[in-house]
Amino acid sequence: SQVPIAINEPVNSYEPGSSEVKSLIATYKKMWAEKIEIPMVINGKDVKTNNHVRLQSPQDHQHDFGFYHQGDMSHVDQAIDTALAAKAKWNALGWEQRVSIFLKAADLIAGPYRDIINAATMIGQSKNVHQAEIDAACEFIDFLRFNAEFMTEMYAEQPISDNGIWNRVEYRPLEGFCFAVTPFNFTAISGNLPACMAMMGNVVVWKPSDKQIYSAKVIMDVLKEAGLPDGVINMIFTDGKETAEKVMAHRDFAGLHFTGSTRVFQGMWKMIGDNIHNYRTYPRIVGETGGKDFVIAHPSANVEAVATALVRGAFEYQGQKCSAASRAYIPQSLWNDVKKVMENQMSTIKVGSPEDPSNFVNAVIDKNSFEKCKGYIDRANASSEATVAIGGKYDDAKGWFVHPTVIETTNPQYESMVEEIFGPILSVYVYQDADWAETLKLVDSSSPYSLTGSVFSQCRYAIDEAYKALENASGNFYINDKPTGAVVGQQPFGGGRASGTNDKAGSKMNLLRWVSVRSIKETF
Ligand code: GLU
Repeated sequence: SQVPIAINEPVNSYEPGSSEVKSLIATYKKMWAEKIEIPMVINGKDVKTNNHVRLQSPQDHQHDFGFYHQGDMSHVDQAIDTALAAKAKWNALGWEQRVSIFLKAADLIAGPYRDIINAATMIGQSKNVHQAEIDAACEFIDFLRFNAEFMTEMYAEQPISDNGIWNRVEYRPLEGFCFAVTPFNFTAISGNLPACMAMMGNVVVWKPSDKQIYSAKVIMDVLKEAGLPDGVINMIFTDGKETAEKVMAHRDFAGLHFTGSTRVFQGMWKMIGDNIHNYRTYPRIVGETGGKDFVIAHPSANVEAVATALVRGAFEYQGQKCSAASRAYIPQSLWNDVKKVMENQMSTIKVGSPEDPSNFVNAVIDKNSFEKCKGYIDRANASSEATVAIGGKYDDAKGWFVHPTVIETTNPQYESMVEEIFGPILSVYVYQDADWAETLKLVDSSSPYSLTGSVFSQCRYAIDEAYKALENASGNFYINDKPTGAVVGQQPFGGGRASGTNDKAGSKMNLLRWVSVRSIKETF
């Protein structure tokens, strides 16, 4: 490797009572009380407006922790113009200079910014200590370090030459500017999407989710401190649809790096189609969108392992991971036992604010999400096809709290088995043991998505049957493990069908989308 060899950032365990956890919670409390003001950042400068939007924490909707400056379409223009103006100098910089900025950013997060970025993620996105640490600190650091390594490996890949001929390829940034649209649920994704495009030499307009403004600000602070030149990444807080329309109508729009909903992504793809004659170059389109991730257990599965994977896979971060276990197919012979173990485990789960690190489940992101979850629970309670088997409580008195819930249904097409909920609700369909082969077909056919999925079995033939029958049903396939928690450099992440373009985040496959290769032949 031409850069320091990437290894996964060790996860800080934040043991109860440890000095690390005390320091993190103290930072949380300080930041909670601070009343932060968050401007946009265009050309490296803070940009303020008269349109102030209150920042509220999902765990306490009465408490404002500050406000951000909402921009309008003039800011989108400014961000694009600034990015294009920064391009020539950024492109002329050697890759060693570029990459050092992102390696330094990784070190800043690993060190002085660790508590700050974790606390911002806990406050703004309602993650517990552990979920914040594996996302905002570790995964973001991993993205930065591994992408640096992948980039240099990629640059080193050269064609063969012959006597009298020297063939080479040059990995050039895209011609124009790139657009990053990022989600609330992972600070790491939010940072990686603009950062990896910039690392490859591109200039970027970045629109984070309005539910992730606080940790987005920390990302910009870190990049600035690491030495990112003005104008390379411009962060705007503007209306999503209008911004997309404006960006995609621009002649120099060169690439979209998106994580979010299928509907929004498809809308953007259409906008790009409508503008296709105007562009200088065909834009790159990379998206990671929805999921309806499955867990299927074979009668040979280990009960304890299935139950633990379901509890963790479905309820970590309130089920708000694209990868969350959300529909389970359990054989009749195992279901009572699986349910018992789940009930036991779930009875120990505490629900509440991340300020208390022993709360495993925190709030869902906002009122809409709360109402959506409530709807699924209420309708299951009233349905003749479904029952709320475990949990089913919700409480919005202080924050948007939905307790971990298992819905059991006799209809594999029941709404909660097929619709993406993005909350702490798992649906279970109990199948007859003899119907294993049919159930595999059902798993494959009952969802338009294809992001993650798990099979549990102790029988190698059954595993192979699932492996083959579900080859297109998920981009990340887990054998005897939960479908969440992909690690950069270990399980490249992404899915196909309605879940995205499957250009695996944090991999060479993704980085290749942000370069336009020039092939050079020289004859001596
Ligand atoms: N990479 C995450 C995981 O494996 C999920 C990312 C997402 O929700 O978009 O759990």
